[in-house]
Amino acid sequence: MSHFSDARNVIAGGVNSPVRAFAGVGGEPIFFKGANGAVLESEDGRHYIDYVGSWGPMILGHCHPAVVDAVVETVKSGMSYGAPCILETRIAEKIRELVPSIERIRMVSSGTEATMSAIRLARGHTGRDKIVKFEGCYHGHSDSLLIKAGSGALTLGVPSSPGVPAVLAEHTITLPYNDIDAVVEAFGAFGDDLACVIVEPIAGNMNMVPPIPGFLDTLREQCTSAGAILIFDEVMTGFRVAKGGAQSLFDIEPDLTTLGKIVGGGMPAAAFGGRADIMASIAPDGPVYQAGTLSGNPVAMAAGLATLEQVDRSGFYESLGSHTQQLVAGLSAAASNAGVSLATESAGGMFGFVFTDAQPVRRFDQVAAADIDRFKLFFHGMLAEGVYFAPSAFEAGFVSAAHGDAEINKTLDAAQKVMATL
Ligand SMILES: *Cc1c(COP(=O)(O)O)cnc(C)c1O
Repeated sequence: MSHFSDARNVIAGGVNSPVRAFAGVGGEPIFFKGANGAVLESEDGRHYIDYVGSWGPMILGHCHPAVVDAVVETVKSGMSYGAPCILETRIAEKIRELVPSIERIRMVSSGTEATMSAIRLARGHTGRDKIVKFEGCYHGHSDSLLIKAGSGALTLGVPSSPGVPAVLAEHTITLPYNDIDAVVEAFGAFGDDLACVIVEPIAGNMNMVPPIPGFLDTLREQCTSAGAILIFDEVMTGFRVAKGGAQSLFDIEPDLTTLGKIVGGGMPAAAFGGRADIMASIAPDGPVYQAGTLSGNPVAMAAGLATLEQVDRSGFYESLGSHTQQLVAGLSAAASNAGVSLATESAGGMFGFVFTDAQPVRRFDQVAAADIDRFKLFFHGMLAEGVYFAPSAFEAGFVSAAHGDAEINKTLDAAQKVMATL
């Protein structure tokens, strides 16, 4: 019997979130009992250099003392009040300082809740139903967002999961990422009916795909002229690619921003916010309903605030970015030494690598056509060497502040060895 088969007997599929099940790479998932700094420890006592970082939150590495202390201190005064506390105001102020387009904010408990609420707000505020999203972007698992492209860019979407009503798909237009013409065409056809456009300003849920020059600017211009709301889903990129998120890298102000992952410092917290006039439509000031029993939970706010205070220290992103660059440069070199085609990307503490001749990778169909079998071999080879990459070819990777030269070099030594076996 394995930990996984025990889990499968009582937990649906053995996991509480599907990608953890290793379906994308084969084999059984590893069960972990601890983590510290850049390293995870499995139930059977093996150590792995961690490039998943709980899928993004652990930008300081595991068990950063400032975060642990903040959580322990806060929890001693109670775990939840269901009433306002000052920590909520403190983290809101800190977020606005780092991401100035967020004039007003609302804390929630997951990225899914943040994007779902932002979409409802956009619809309620504009009085329009249709939304635009992009193929390969992931915005959580709420009904309106689990829609994929139908055949042809301007045809109606189709649910990407059973249980999502087809009538909702009629209101979701899914366009190819980085396709400026498709955006202009969609606004020409539906502009007055569009409540919002939601986009990952750097896509991180189809491996890592940055926007081409002009793509985000076109979204900004089209939304402004059609009176639609531009939502940057920065649940992954917020505080990850830069202190001010992707919007600071590209110097574009969205109307609304969704945050998650790092904003909770490893606790379940997320947020949405933006223009004060739009946020005024949310209850209790306005008519658009949104609420949460554990929203603004003090322990989660303490973990998030402690994390944001650390990333705000001078030189934080310079050091993080240079370690990440060192990693992807080394992966590229290991691949080319072995005669393996590999495309790589990085921004701040986020990176991607795709086994493909298509370079650079800028579209979803390029990621979808990559050599997945090679990825699986590489993944398992690296795992055997004690390096834990995301168990899917469609996920971005994350470096933390706890990854130093020693961890990066050990990873690259392993990569040299494993690439040569592909
Ligand atoms: C992770 C993610 C979400 C969903 O967040 P959850 O906390 O898993 O619900 C939404 N959008 C993006 C861009 C994400 O990366």
